[in-house]
This record gives sequence, C-alpha cells and structure tokens, in this order.
Amino acid sequence: MSSYAFIQILRRGPARYTVDVSELRILSIIPPMTQLNTPYPSTAYLTGFLRSRGFKAEQADLSIALALKLLSVSGVQAIHGQVSALPRKQQTAATRFFAEHFDSYRATISPAIRFLQGRDPSLAHRIASRRYLPEGPRFASLEHYIDNQQQEGDPLDWAFGALGLQDRAKHIATLYLNDLADVIRDAIDPRFEFVRYAESLAANQPMFDQLQTALCAPHSLVDASLHELTLEALSLYLPNLVLITAPFPGNVYGAFRIAQTTKQTHPTIVTVLGGGYCNTELRAMNEPRVFDFFDFITLDAGERPLLALTEHLQNRRPLDQLVRTYTRKHNYVDFKEPDIAFSESGTPTYAGLPLGDYLSLLDMLNPMHRLWSDGRWNKLTVAHGCYWKKCSFCDVNLDYISRYELATTDVLIRRIESLICETGQTGFHFVDEAAPPKALKSLANALLKRKLEISWWGNIRFEKSFDAGLCQLLAESGCIAVTGGLEVASDRLLKLMEKGVSVEQVARVTRAFSDAGILVHAYLMYGFPTQTAQDTIDALEYVRQLFAAGCIHSGFFHRFTCTVHSPVGKHPERYGVTLSQPLRATFANNDINFTDSTGIDHDRYGAGLKKALFNYMHGLGLDLDVREWFEQRGSDRGVNKRNRRRAMNAVPQTTVPPNLIERALA
Ligand code: SF4
Repeated sequence: MSSYAFIQILRRGPARYTVDVSELRILSIIPPMTQLNTPYPSTAYLTGFLRSRGFKAEQADLSIALALKLLSVSGVQAIHGQVSALPRKQQTAATRFFAEHFDSYRATISPAIRFLQGRDPSLAHRIASRRYLPEGPRFASLEHYIDNQQQEGDPLDWAFGALGLQDRAKHIATLYLNDLADVIRDAIDPRFEFVRYAESLAANQPMFDQLQTALCAPHSLVDASLHELTLEALSLYLPNLVLITAPFPGNVYGAFRIAQTTKQTHPTIVTVLGGGYCNTELRAMNEPRVFDFFDFITLDAGERPLLALTEHLQNRRPLDQLVRTYTRKHNYVDFKEPDIAFSESGTPTYAGLPLGDYLSLLDMLNPMHRLWSDGRWNKLTVAHGCYWKKCSFCDVNLDYISRYELATTDVLIRRIESLICETGQTGFHFVDEAAPPKALKSLANALLKRKLEISWWGNIRFEKSFDAGLCQLLAESGCIAVTGGLEVASDRLLKLMEKGVSVEQVARVTRAFSDAGILVHAYLMYGFPTQTAQDTIDALEYVRQLFAAGCIHSGFFHRFTCTVHSPVGKHPERYGVTLSQPLRATFANNDINFTDSTGIDHDRYGAGLKKALFNYMHGLGLDLDVREWFEQRGSDRGVNKRNRRRAMNAVPQTTVPPNLIERALA
C-alpha cells in the first residue's frame, strides 16, 4: 500500500470520489448565528480534544465573521443598495430612516463596532451625547422608561446616572445595531436576527422540504456574504475534513449553507454535522437529501464518534463500525464503544478564534441579564450531564442529560489555568445543565487555596445544599451570578414535574445567594400539564414577591413544550395530557403537540407574564396587583381605566398571601 491512505465515500447515484487522507486537516466551524459577545464553546471543546489526540485541528467562527461583514462600511453600502431598490410599498419605518440617514450610518459603523469591541472606549463620550449615532425606530423603546418612571429628561439618566458613561454608550450603540438588524430583516432577508438565522426552517420540521427549498433559492445578501466567508476559511485552512456544529435550530440553515458551498467548490472535503440540534431533533432521521450536504452526522458527545470517523477515513475502521453516526449508505450506525471520559476530553482551546472581535452589547437595562450579551466568557463545564436527571419536562433520556460524569477539581483547575493563560481573560461561564453543589464547593476551596482570581457564573438547581455558608464561600471564590429553574412557582406543579424543590425553598436559597452579593436569574415556565389559570396567577404572585424581596434579579418565561424525549412525552397519561397523533417525520422530531385535560388557553397569559417580568427586572410595578398585567383580547383591550378594570376582573385573584415569601425568609 502506498504511503497515502484513500477512502471511498459513496455518493447518491453512480458517482464516487476519493479523498486523500494521509493527513487529516480538520476545520471546526460555528455557523451563524449564535451570540455576538463570545464564541459558542463547541468548536473550542472539539479543537482542544482533537489537538490533545495529535490531530491538526483548526476552528473558525463564521457567526461573528458574518455579523462583522454586514456591520462594516462595505456591508452597510451593500444594504443601502438593496434598500434603495425596495418598492415603496415594501418600505418600513426602519428602512426609510436608514435611507435618510445613510451617510451617518456609513460614517459611524466602523467606529461604533470598534467601540463595542472595547477597542476605543473614549468614543463613549460622543455616543453618550446622543448626537453622534443616528437614532432609528428602536430608540422609541427608551420612551418606555420615561413613561414608567414618570420623569422628564433623558430616560438614560434614570438607568445610568451621570457617570455610567461606558454602559450608557453601550446601550445606545446596541439600539443602533438593532436598528440595522431591522433594516436587514425588512429589506434583505426576513429570516435574519443577530442570535439566530432562519430558525423556523429547522425548528420542529418533520420534513426536509422547506429547508431544501430555501437552500435551492438564490443567495440573499446574507447568504452571499456567508458563501464568501466559507470560501475564505477553506482557502485559509485547506481542510479535508470539515466539522460543523449546530447547537440550535437558529444555526442549522447556516450550517447547511456552509456545507453546500464546501461541496460545490471542494467536493472532496468530507463534511460532518453534529451538535445539540442533531442530538435532540435528528434522532430518527431518515432523509437521503441531507447527505447531499453532509457525508456524516454524529449524535451526542462528539469525541468518540469523531475518533471512530477519523479511523474510518484513514482506512482503519469499516463504515459499519462507526459510533452514533448517520451515513448515506447505512443510515444510522452505532457500534458500541465506551465514550471518552469527561476528564479525558481535553482542555478547550480558543486558539484561532478572533477573541478581540466580539461585541459587548447591552440590550436590557438589567445587571444580571447583561451577562449573556456583554463581555467575553471562557466557557467550561464542571460536569457532563445532570446529577438530578428527573425533571419531567427535560430530555432526561438523552445522553447530554442522563450521562452524569464529573471531572476532578484538579482537572478543572488545570483547565481554568490553561484558558487564562491562552486568552488572558479571567471571566468563566460554567455552562452545565446543573452544576453539582459539592463540586462547586470543592472548586471554590481550590480557587481560594491557590489564590486563583477569577469571576464566574453558572447554572445550578436551587437545592437546599446552597445554604448561606456555601453561597458566601462561592462568592469569595469569584461567583458573581447563578441561573436556575424555578419553572412554575407552584408546589403542586413542582412536585408533578419532579423538580425536587419547593417555592419556599427556592426563596431561601435564592436569598442566600443574593445576600452573598450573587445575582440570581430564574428560568420560569407556563403552560405545564394541568396548570390552571389560578396556578398561573399565583405563580406570578410568587415571582413578584421574590423580586420584591430581592431574592431574584432577573428571569425568563418559557412556554412549556412537550418533547418526545421527556417523561411527559414518554408517559403522557401520568400528566393528564393526550399526545397528538405523531406526524410522519423523516427529518427533525422533537416537539409534540398535546391536549391538556384542563382545556386552559395558555396563550391568553403569555404576553402578560412577559410584560410583568420585563417590568420587575427594571424594578417597576412591584407593588401592582398581578392581574393588572393581563389585558383582554380584541375590542375589550384595556386602554382606559374602565376597560383595565374589566380586564382585571376576568383574571382570577391570587390566593397567595401578600407576605408569604417574607414569612418563608423569616
Ligand atoms: S431540568 Fe435541569 S435539573 Fe432538571 S433534569 Fe434537566 S438538567 Fe437536570
């Protein structure tokens, strides 16, 4: 055999091609769109692992690259070209404003981006003056603060005072970018957002048809920019194996576009899709057209499947011995081999990612909420999976939750030190499903002992082991914030969902965190099986009291969705719901419709819950009756006092005593 190893990749029809894989050159790509402030960590994990096994591995973030290409002088010029060609009927407030102020946008876009990248802090003075950046329709949101505060003057004075110059400028520059995103959406590509792109084409799509049609359509300006960036990355790294990770439905279309460009221009490159979207939605895929874009799709933790795949590409393993991998020839192959232990999965590396290019944005004037968009965080996990793995709405049957594995504190400390050394940055986000309290305690002690100064935040369960002493210790070790699920604040429903916490316990735990100076974010839910209107109103009253008592500082209401992998999806009868007949699915399969025996219309409450929470996060409306947030629909929509009263009376009064949380804390 020659010094070159060759592999035959079967393609649909008679055509075959060969790939020289004597040396694998691997490129991992983050497709658009994810976050703008920090790289999504999947390629950092993969690249770190592959390098630890001796592979030549590189990575590229085409999400931030695409955003920066559009938000550049040439980008806004190209946008302007399309806005100018819009027929009058299709013009919107955002496109009209952009066209009128185009010269100003062209002059300010590069300085504004440099400011948001932290490269030119002194520009804050000019931005904060509100005479520098053009202020389009998104700036109307500032009036909201005036209304609520019933104050005169610049509403930003309320949020930032006289000295919060950098933050004030950051918020103004973020609104300016949001205006530009609206222009792109209105004039060029209605599927565009800064944190997701064409999400509806992939979210819960049982068939591939819509995605296929979109992929066959001519390029929009966004697609064309992504095409160019893909070609640049391919010519820079010359890979023969491209791994594309799709964590969410909002970057699946981008992933397929990148694969399409790769296959059209470099047909011998092997393309592989993996990531959270595949792990949850593509578990029963049977769609040959997908293999026109990807040669392989791997499921669950990528390390073992990728090792098997590289052996296969180097002719050392037959195709039918791949691990958790879809192939065109065999559809799904799962040759049983143990996964790589979490402690041996290597240290993530950000090498090759443009760490200085990410944008620190300030969308919402809430100190906890900004952590998701402001500043760059080194991302790590304390453990793989969840130690609790019981919640009935969660994908507890899937590997990313069910396989719980802990690395030792020493391994974690080594990873932290290595990331600080590589990036020069000491901010860490532990992106666990639920970081275990014992491991956090051990980590905190180790950080203090080694005098390793970091700032960190992460996801936890509000369980009672987090007492005042532990919260204090975590704060001393650098913990600045925690996030956790309160879900529906109702003891009956928390029991039904097997959350393992009660409302009063959550109050005590969150208060212990907040007393230690740690910010708390609560994930909230509505629409859980058997949840009544009374439950919803009472849950909001609990949430109001938790905000008022300073236990939690921010939150987010999700509508419950039943997934096929969750206990509710597996045993609907235990939760009083009937699942709809499953649709014929050859592509994605995750959410499933259901009928709840209570028959309640949860849509009626969604807007009110979100409005209440938005106000609570800004410290507003905490003394209002929770019924005030709910308006009646249609012609009864409450705009005057009488209608508001009528709307309020249509919503049940809370049965929760007004001082219940206070009493629980006492
Ligand atoms: S919801 Fe969170 S705590 Fe519950 S099983 Fe899932 S990951 Fe674990």
